[in-house]
Amino acid sequence: MAIDRRAFLKIAGWSALLGLGGKAAFELLAPGQVDASLQPAPLRGKKWGMAIDVTRLDEEVMDAAVRACHRTFNVPYMGNPKVELKWIWEETYEHAFPDQENEYKAERYRGHNFLLLCNHCTNPPCCRVCPTKATWKREDGIVMMDMHRCIGCRFCMAACPYGARSFNWGDPRLAPKELNPDFPTNPDYPTRSMGVVEKCLFCEDRLAKGQMPACLEAANALKPDTMFFGDLEESDSEVRKALRTRYSIRRKPELGTGPNVYYII
Ligand code: SF4
Repeated sequence: MAIDRRAFLKIAGWSALLGLGGKAAFELLAPGQVDASLQPAPLRGKKWGMAIDVTRLDEEVMDAAVRACHRTFNVPYMGNPKVELKWIWEETYEHAFPDQENEYKAERYRGHNFLLLCNHCTNPPCCRVCPTKATWKREDGIVMMDMHRCIGCRFCMAACPYGARSFNWGDPRLAPKELNPDFPTNPDYPTRSMGVVEKCLFCEDRLAKGQMPACLEAANALKPDTMFFGDLEESDSEVRKALRTRYSIRRKPELGTGPNVYYII
């Protein structure tokens, strides 16, 4: 039975008083118990994209963004760089933009780390090679991944020119306890099994709940206006406004994949 506004506010008040981990009141209620008009509306877009202002990135901000992502999606630390799972990660300018490398580049980019993630490409080669359609592009531009349909062939990893996909060589649920004392960190998100590929999904489940990507929220909480997210086809979106006023680059655009993550430099 749906509850009315008065009852909802009462529960919200008790939630705040009891300090229930910052959970929204509607999260404490059974599905269908809340008046639908009280729940945040899903965020909808025609072509989701992101812009990252690299001039505002520092180790603290990048670490916060990576940790927020990994805690939200139960991405464990494996303790071995060769098998580390990467949804969002740090990489030097030289590795992230090898095509832009030159010996006279600005000092501030030399050895400087950038935040990398799946580019949710307009023309994603990873989707074309998947034999089971475990990865596909949604109408709103998000490149999805269904770990249940993945047979672990890793064709998508070979096709992605950005290293944006990771393979579970071992069982992520058995990741070293000393590195992951409270794993799984999010009981509401499924953990994966050995032998499947995983990647960033642009926080599609958070968008469905009216929330922005977890990495952006964490980074911007420390340094506002570090990351922008929105509909690239909407001229008034935050991401478009940021791109309109600042110069930006993308990773390997010459490959024709159409990356939708921009780096404001
Ligand atoms: Fe696919 Fe890689 Fe592009 Fe992401 S960055 S959509 S994994 S090709």
